[in-house]
Amino acid sequence: MAKEQQKSVENNKYRGVPANIASEIESYETRYFKEDLPIPFCGTLKLYPATVRDFEIFSSCSACLTLDKNKDPKGIAMSQLEYLYSKTQIPGDEGSMWSYRLQKLFEIIFHLQNGIKCINCGEVIEYQSPYFRQYIEGVHKAQQEGKGAPALVCPHEGCGGQQFIEMMKFIEDPKTHKHVLCVDGQIISKQDYERLRYIVLYQNFPDYQDDSWVDPAIKQDYEERMKLERQKNDFHATIEKKIVCLAIATSFKFEDIYSMSIRKFTMALTTVDDLINYQIMKTASLSGFVQWPKDKPIEHWIYKPYKDMYGDSYKTIDQATQGVK
Ligand SMILES: [Zn+2]
Repeated sequence: MAKEQQKSVENNKYRGVPANIASEIESYETRYFKEDLPIPFCGTLKLYPATVRDFEIFSSCSACLTLDKNKDPKGIAMSQLEYLYSKTQIPGDEGSMWSYRLQKLFEIIFHLQNGIKCINCGEVIEYQSPYFRQYIEGVHKAQQEGKGAPALVCPHEGCGGQQFIEMMKFIEDPKTHKHVLCVDGQIISKQDYERLRYIVLYQNFPDYQDDSWVDPAIKQDYEERMKLERQKNDFHATIEKKIVCLAIATSFKFEDIYSMSIRKFTMALTTVDDLINYQIMKTASLSGFVQWPKDKPIEHWIYKPYKDMYGDSYKTIDQATQGVK
């Protein structure tokens, strides 16, 4: 095992992630994550960080990435990609929902539009565009009149191309009957998709940690505790509220925040919160009215001790502030 790889395994943040993928992501931290640069992926594709503008839809569509195949007896023997494919094939609304989520996710992370691409000039005709809808209407009309379907012609000026490829689709291997993804002409294999899942999660969610290795009973207990804690304290804030908070506490304008990567937005909001708390605690401790326990120094707003996945989760707020009188 290479030295770099060994380091990744020891880094708790990547616990549960296959060592080669952990080491790849770790190398992206300084090269790409720091400046929110797109990461080259599978040939000509690039993985772009999602922005606050796409927050809700990205968060909802990232369910494709966090799907737990091992919770489903049918999923255990499948690869993540095959399991996702099986989800898109469920009849009715559920299958459509998974297809829609995957399509939206790829539009956001690859900066692509779903549709068909002219192989002559590269123009993409989106499925949602009036041009394509009009074409489909023409096809239906021709069918009703018993005529042959009209040819689709590229709308790009002076092109006239009539050959197209789909921007996103699953392709089946005729021998194995397994599926791979084809995105803008690039093949994403099951191994590539496994990399994609982890890269995108770590790229966009700065506090993301894989929990597939955690005992299911602990996971369930944790989720129940968190639910109770939330109900007890009624803690919640919409993303809109968080945007307003960041704008008010800093000199960022709303427009700046909408274009910010989700990664930097999350870090900025946490840091502002930490800074304000730190200032209050520091002022209180210097005032002489508050007795601060010697074994519990005030946590600095920049320098933080490493916390593992469940960190202080098993403490209530009262327990966490105990000793501060
Ligand atoms: Zn064309």
